[in-house]
Amino acid sequence: MIKTRKPVIAGNWKMYKTVTEAVAFVSELKLAVGGIGNVEVVVCPPFTALAKVAEALGSTGIGVGAQDVYWEDKGAFTGEISAVMLKEAGCRYVIIGHSERRQFFGETDAFVNQKVKTVLEHGLVPIVCVGELIGERESGITEKVVRLQTEAALAGLTADQAAGLVIAYEPVWAIGTGKTASDADAQQVIGFIRGVVRHLFGAGAAGKVRIQYGGSVKPQNTVGLMEQPDIDGALVGGASLDVESFAGIVKAAAGI
Ligand code: PEP
Repeated sequence: MIKTRKPVIAGNWKMYKTVTEAVAFVSELKLAVGGIGNVEVVVCPPFTALAKVAEALGSTGIGVGAQDVYWEDKGAFTGEISAVMLKEAGCRYVIIGHSERRQFFGETDAFVNQKVKTVLEHGLVPIVCVGELIGERESGITEKVVRLQTEAALAGLTADQAAGLVIAYEPVWAIGTGKTASDADAQQVIGFIRGVVRHLFGAGAAGKVRIQYGGSVKPQNTVGLMEQPDIDGALVGGASLDVESFAGIVKAAAGI
């Protein structure tokens, strides 16, 4: 199937890998996926490794992303990192509203929206995470949950800004559990999210926004997911920590 949107495969390393481990990883990764032009590849290391990873990747085309950001540029906000700092470290992407931040660190939809706006103002690309809990899926309110999260995260954006986003649909019950949404279920919710973007910003933005699936993606289940018409890549946790499995996902998405 020909898609006009370039898929993005992003690795969310969470709180794994020291600077030394991270640099060794990307040195291998660039050999494994170098030259693949039809998929955008992004790694999201912990803050401490961002600058060194960006330096090691140089002009390979593999992008670097952060796992969070704060919305002020500077100030008395102990422990926080601004978009200005991320940009200087070589980041181009920022994961915003990951379910672990929502669950463990009190991230609200309002915070997510502020962060999305700040990141866009600084010319970075947000990877905005949305997704339902298992109880919400079982109660049949998945669409309502992802609609409200998407509407809140994208509030106040222009159609051009919405078009440039990456949205990651990550059912929370599929993250780190080995349970992947079926290709059809992932397509259904992602198609629904594209419809929400269409409703808010029009067909132009909806046709351009890239929407990833995330939740126990592995090389073996990538092809089926990528064949779905609305799925434009993957946000990968566990399987992004190993060069062979992450490169396998990239190659599967590239049709190699
Ligand atoms: C994630 O943390 O965004 C994720 C999708 O994790 P995993 O691939 O391990 O399920």
